[in-house]
Amino acid sequence: MKRIGVLTSGGDAQGMNAAVRAVVRMGLENDMEVFAIYEGYQGMVDGGDQIRPIGWNDVGGILHQGGTVIGSARCAEFRERAGRLKAVRNLLMHHIDALVIIGGDGSLSGAQLLYDEWPSLVDELAQAGKISQETAVSHPHIQIAGIIGSIDNDMFGSDVTTGSDTALHRIIEATDAISSTAASHQRIFVIEVMGRRCGYLALMGAMAGGADWVFIPENPPNVDNWEDKMCELMRLGREAGRRDIIVMVAEGATDQHGAPITSEYVKQVLETRLGEETRITVLGHVQRGGAPSAFDRNLSTLLGAAAVENLQAATGPEKPFVMGIQGNKISRTPLDEALEKTRAVAQAMRDESYEEAMRLRGKSFNESFEIVRTMFRVLPHPPSPDRRRMRIAVVNAGGLAPGMNMAVRTAVRLGTDKGHIMLGVQNGIPGLIKGEIREMDWMSVSGWASRGGSELGTNRILPEGSDFYAIARTLEEHKIDGVLMIGGWTGYDSVLKLMENRHTFPANNIPMVCIPATINNNLPGAELCIGADTALNNIVEAVDKIKQSAVASRRVFVVEVMGRNCGYLALMSAMATGAERVYTNEEGITSSNLIADVKELVTGFSRGKRLGLMIRNENANKVYTTTFISALFEEEGGDLFDVREAILGHLQQGGDPSPFDRILATRLTSHGIKRLEELIDAGDASCYAIGQIGGSLQFTNMEDVPRLSDMEKKRPKKQWWMDLRPIARDLAKPAPH
Ligand code: ADP
Repeated sequence: MKRIGVLTSGGDAQGMNAAVRAVVRMGLENDMEVFAIYEGYQGMVDGGDQIRPIGWNDVGGILHQGGTVIGSARCAEFRERAGRLKAVRNLLMHHIDALVIIGGDGSLSGAQLLYDEWPSLVDELAQAGKISQETAVSHPHIQIAGIIGSIDNDMFGSDVTTGSDTALHRIIEATDAISSTAASHQRIFVIEVMGRRCGYLALMGAMAGGADWVFIPENPPNVDNWEDKMCELMRLGREAGRRDIIVMVAEGATDQHGAPITSEYVKQVLETRLGEETRITVLGHVQRGGAPSAFDRNLSTLLGAAAVENLQAATGPEKPFVMGIQGNKISRTPLDEALEKTRAVAQAMRDESYEEAMRLRGKSFNESFEIVRTMFRVLPHPPSPDRRRMRIAVVNAGGLAPGMNMAVRTAVRLGTDKGHIMLGVQNGIPGLIKGEIREMDWMSVSGWASRGGSELGTNRILPEGSDFYAIARTLEEHKIDGVLMIGGWTGYDSVLKLMENRHTFPANNIPMVCIPATINNNLPGAELCIGADTALNNIVEAVDKIKQSAVASRRVFVVEVMGRNCGYLALMSAMATGAERVYTNEEGITSSNLIADVKELVTGFSRGKRLGLMIRNENANKVYTTTFISALFEEEGGDLFDVREAILGHLQQGGDPSPFDRILATRLTSHGIKRLEELIDAGDASCYAIGQIGGSLQFTNMEDVPRLSDMEKKRPKKQWWMDLRPIARDLAKPAPH
């Protein structure tokens, strides 16, 4: 039997609890003995009751909590060999032979050192008689899995680290709030965000929050008179009608000579040169606070589970590794390699080799920087005389998806910046039929970044019969060269139908690019659709509250979530809230399922269980409705528990888009516009859907959509997240008896 220890160390990060829960439960599930090491390395050095066995129920009800329930600390002693010697002795007293360490690059550097020194430390302890020879021989090495807990997203080994998505939530909440007051008073705000050596939060915060300027450590202003440039841009912005001005500063920002650019200095520059009242908001620890986002909970859960599985599989003296995600896939990287790359960026910045620092940050970081820089502009570049000016129609279609506005904003700005004429179609397909189209200029999308809903208007109406003729006329009259369809199944289906009608209506012979935007996350060619993350967060927040309301009673909740025939929202919200049962359309519901569920509930509650949580997708089964299931459970539960149903409804589509959805909308649209331009230039009328698949952006020919989809159920034939079902189920089981 393996004995593993789990600890959280260094700066805390939201999602650490989900990782701890997953490690503990996955460990127990795999017949391991699991120890919590409290207060990070300090607990390891101090030993005693700082290292204790931890059980299934000890990690119940912690998914929604920020911080870390097993404590974190900075520990100076662990930096010294003497401290590490004590730590090894304490681990060996419990015969711990594997560790999951959740922390930032500091903590993981410590982990690497512990691994490297382990044999010599064990030797030293044996020689000094502090451990038996037998113990020394049976623990020749330690196995270590690292999970990067860092809000800064400053480490290699994972596209995103535990905590950074939640930190972005806090940044965006603050930026949105500040934007509205800044707009009312025409003030300038300087917002300082965390990130000593990494500009990720500032850059993504600026992108998602629609800021007007950003300072990041990796890319200092490349001129010495940046103050003049910045102030000129802000002045022109005011002239063009910008009401709110927001400058985002990463705490580690410098100029190109390495001298700090502080938020205080930026404020002084703006105030003195522009004569405008300027305020600073330092977000500080707010960024570490609050409930973890749905994304951080699920990411950390998956990484925790994967860490244990990898440790379980390890037999010999394996090098430490970090678990991370690349795209949607769990990845495993040697820890030394991840640390080396992380240090290389820091070194490049120390050497003032900023080009190298940017190169090391990778493609998507660089792309984001370029996009943000374009978005800062007050006006687009003037159209170039030797470049064709295209007329591009932008349409929203399908159910509302938060982030649609961000996608339209990106399309309008990036399109007009390239000299194109961007045409906004009102109210989806009916707008195309009736020719309700208006030209959109740079400022027409000002303030759209944070807005939920769809400013253009969207609905589920599909074209039929004589509509095709009307649409062809609209396309002809407005001389439309290409269409950017930002929407859900209705949008995709409409494009397919227009393609089918091309023989009859040659005007439809223009390229169209579909950008996946639906909370249902049910589109082929995209693993994640714009809007799904916001909906997931809306569900998770609501379920957190529903759970809290039940503290004083013995109760089962049956919560119904949207998703049409796609169980994504149901499964992912179940994973993020610890729901024990998920009913999806993919799996269906049978009477024997329900009988088994009733039995399990009765057993659980008769053994002292206090809360039951089941999540049902709206279309899981026509007959076994949420009301039916609730009534069945209520009847069978007798005096043991009562049952409440909660149909979440449209709150799931509402609210401001999450940072993830804003960023996804920006990236997909930026690539979508590029592809559309290429197609128009090449006189190619093919239609594509863009999406992120396995970590990269890909285009799927719309002709392949029917083959890739279950057209009746309106969802992709293959859904990647279906593989996550066992983990969600295993971790939410009641404690084994
Ligand atoms: P983070 O893990 O968030 O980067 P720190 O850099 O403060 O936070 O590291 C947390 C703890 O990890 C430190 O207090 C120390 O105990 C340990 N640690 C950090 N760097 C090293 C190192 N180079 N060698 C040994 N231990 C280290």
